Amino acid sequence: MSGVDRAAVLDRLFATIESRKGADPASSHTAKLFAKGTGKIAQKVGEEATETVIAALSEGPDAVKSESADLIYHLMVLWADAGRQISGRNWNGARVSPALPRKHRGNRSRPMAYDDQNIFAKILRGEIPCNKVDEDEHTLAFHDINPQTKTHVLVIPKGAYTSFDDFSANASEAEIAALIRMTGKIAREQGIAESGYRILSNIGQDGHQEVPHLHIHIFGGQHLGRMIKPT
Ligand code: 5GP
Repeated sequence: MSGVDRAAVLDRLFATIESRKGADPASSHTAKLFAKGTGKIAQKVGEEATETVIAALSEGPDAVKSESADLIYHLMVLWADAGRQISGRNWNGARVSPALPRKHRGNRSRPMAYDDQNIFAKILRGEIPCNKVDEDEHTLAFHDINPQTKTHVLVIPKGAYTSFDDFSANASEAEIAALIRMTGKIAREQGIAESGYRILSNIGQDGHQEVPHLHIHIFGGQHLGRMIKPT
């Protein structure tokens, strides 16, 4: 099975687990686990992890495979449960907390640890308000609190990505497509697509990035002048 196929299987498994949230506990094993709560789910993850370790040390590859499947399943139940606790909304729905694990990770290590106390993480969790423009499963767009131009909208992924560097290396195709599509859509909705606009993302220290959660600035509604002020 290719890596892409494997990822699709995991996505389908996660979607199935998600669909069991709030279902009648008698109707499915997963619904019963959700009903028992975080403590029980976490305990199951611990047990399955231990069983996987024991299989690796004394039972051989087939046992490792089978125990790993149990472990992955219970881990996904834990993720889905965490999503419900943190955001209070369906992971497939409007909101995904940036404190949550990401569904798709590349092999590349992260350039810096994600700080889930950054201001955009708090906006995503609904802890502080924003003047929302639009959102979809993977993306949120809102007006910048301190607009630099007549139109100044920020587009951010709902996943926990520190910057464009992190996002471009580690985000899923769906997340990347959503961010790009949303950026173009916002510009059209704001009525600046025809007259023109500028998109910009500051990255790291030299880029003067202030908020360590990837954001695309959309500037427009006026003539924007030169791209970068001469120093
Ligand atoms: P950076 O310098 O990181 O590229 O841009 C950060 C942007 O986030 C700035 O334009 C700043 O005005 C905006 N910003 C900072 N805090 C908030 C906030 O609480 N709400 C909103 N809507 N924008 C914010």
